[in-house]
Amino acid sequence: MQDRIKQLERACAILEPAASERRKFTAQAVGFADSFLERLPDMDTFELGHGKARQLDRPFTESPSALPDLLELLDSAILHEGINPASGGHLGYIPGGGVYPSALGDYLADVCNRYSGVAYASPGAARLEQSLVRWMAELVGFPPESGGDLTSGGSIANLSAVITARETMQIRARDIERSCIYLTEDAHHCIDKALRAAGLAECKKRTVAMDANFRMDVRKLENMILADRSMGLRPWLLIASAGTTDTGAVDPIETMADIAERYDLWLHIDAAYGGFFLLCEEGRDVLHGLQRAHSIVLDPHKGMFLPYGSGAVLVRDVNWLARAQAYEADYMQDAKAADEDFSPADLSLELSRPFRGLRFWLPVRLFGLAPFRAALAEKIWLARYFHEQLDKAAGWETGPYPELSVVTFRYVPEQGDVDAFNRRLLEAVHADGKVFISSTMIEGKFILRLAVLHFRSHLAQVDYLLGLLKRLVRELA
Ligand SMILES: *Cc1c(COP(=O)(O)O)cnc(C)c1O
Repeated sequence: MQDRIKQLERACAILEPAASERRKFTAQAVGFADSFLERLPDMDTFELGHGKARQLDRPFTESPSALPDLLELLDSAILHEGINPASGGHLGYIPGGGVYPSALGDYLADVCNRYSGVAYASPGAARLEQSLVRWMAELVGFPPESGGDLTSGGSIANLSAVITARETMQIRARDIERSCIYLTEDAHHCIDKALRAAGLAECKKRTVAMDANFRMDVRKLENMILADRSMGLRPWLLIASAGTTDTGAVDPIETMADIAERYDLWLHIDAAYGGFFLLCEEGRDVLHGLQRAHSIVLDPHKGMFLPYGSGAVLVRDVNWLARAQAYEADYMQDAKAADEDFSPADLSLELSRPFRGLRFWLPVRLFGLAPFRAALAEKIWLARYFHEQLDKAAGWETGPYPELSVVTFRYVPEQGDVDAFNRRLLEAVHADGKVFISSTMIEGKFILRLAVLHFRSHLAQVDYLLGLLKRLVRELA
């Protein structure tokens, strides 16, 4: 038996490369990353697909490959097709980030592989995550008894918030059909998914009309709540957006909080896009009253410029989250007995998870907060600048002056179908590929949108887009 065991041990020895081999791997991977970053300023932001990804459809085999070959495959199959979110030219959807120290944080977290789910397993990892949650809770103005969880993104954070709302408001199966939820058409679609996943799809969903600036019309909201109450229904959940994905609009949070209080509703704020603008004065000017929410979602992989994989849910009383996620498991008894504070797993849908705090903590500690504040203010000013430049040029129609960093716009040609013209304009921007913008439908119209949130997006990219749009309009007209 020992011979067999030893034989197997030899057969899997490659899983632990020797130091010299490891150094070679690391140098090759770092070389690849450096070369990517050096080429990045000249790389396109959008490249049309020509099936490059199909190179990945090879069968997995028993034998090893050489790392340089795999890196080459990665380059040719992945990095030259689709959107390039590492590029400062990414001005569409809501751009992500990818600050470099986050990659080092992931690397170190993965090499050390500390178990961040329970404090008993790694008091340090749990505490590091907790320190980030505390910092965000203070940023939004939550009291000391608040708490939260680092998630993989905004969608899962919204799901966690919705479940916490359901449990705390004690919405049981028999109540669902008479329970009412209020949101606008511009609430992110992940809220719908969250409601479905939380078993709340049968709640009465009230789509509240928006004002001319795409914010929830609070008078209509109150009337709807009153109407629902008079029909014997139970209004219980109010969803606000602090920065909608479509237009960047911030709902009137203070008034919504008043209404939530008056009628005993849970106020959830989806601030996945806009929340971190609290770090700069320009953002604080439009983000009022977040501290009055019961739950808030933030997306560090948006506003803190982290690579994809970082969201956060915050609740005004940590016990709400803990009760919603409470669990019993005999095999966890040692951990439960040892922990005084809540562990991440006590507040999360997850048990095992990546030590995802490090990718967030490292850049914030290494760079300090000041450059993040500056970058966020810069994004707001870039959006304002873009809006003003288009307003000065003939033929352009712009949406509301940006509260945050999204601008909606379209070109109105002297003749012809406006929607069709803007569709062609968008296609031409994509064919150019240097910068990337996206589109949406607003009141039945095809609308272009600029979203500035990448830490690599500066005046140069926005000026390039302005020049490109003007040139393409001349060519298409
Ligand atoms: C991006 C976004 C989400 C979804 O977050 P993911 O991190 O993509 O899962 C939800 N709400 C708003 C307002 C967003 O901008």
